[in-house]
Amino acid sequence: MELILKLREEVGMAVLLITHDMGLVAQTADRVLVMYAGQLIEQAPVLELFDHPAHPYTRALLRSVPGIRDERDRVLASIQGIVPERYDRIKGCRFAGRCPHRRDVCGNPQTYMELGPDHKVRCSRAKEAELNEPCC
Ligand code: SF4
Repeated sequence: MELILKLREEVGMAVLLITHDMGLVAQTADRVLVMYAGQLIEQAPVLELFDHPAHPYTRALLRSVPGIRDERDRVLASIQGIVPERYDRIKGCRFAGRCPHRRDVCGNPQTYMELGPDHKVRCSRAKEAELNEPCC
């Protein structure tokens, strides 16, 4: 990563980093695009995404990362289930089978909607207060 970041500075190039390491994302990225089952489900500048994650998958990913201020006995979150097979055939939300917040509306096609001027999410329930409470 040091070499890549050095080259980025020297050459003035953009870097597209694909990773599940959210610590690395926090340290290096300007902008984050979160994908699940072949779909873009959320995007925002890095600070906005870490401060206000909106999609349940993004939120679960962030809760699964250990933090330096964590209590020693903190249990990291895990996401139940597995990525569905043939997810390209799912008409509604592709995360619904693993999401503790799913409701009937989640079976409908999910639009990629604006949450703020530079923050988009693919979850029809993302603006509801319930989703801001820890669930898993
Ligand atoms: S659309 Fe429904 S099932 Fe999908 S992430 Fe949002 S709340 Fe969960």
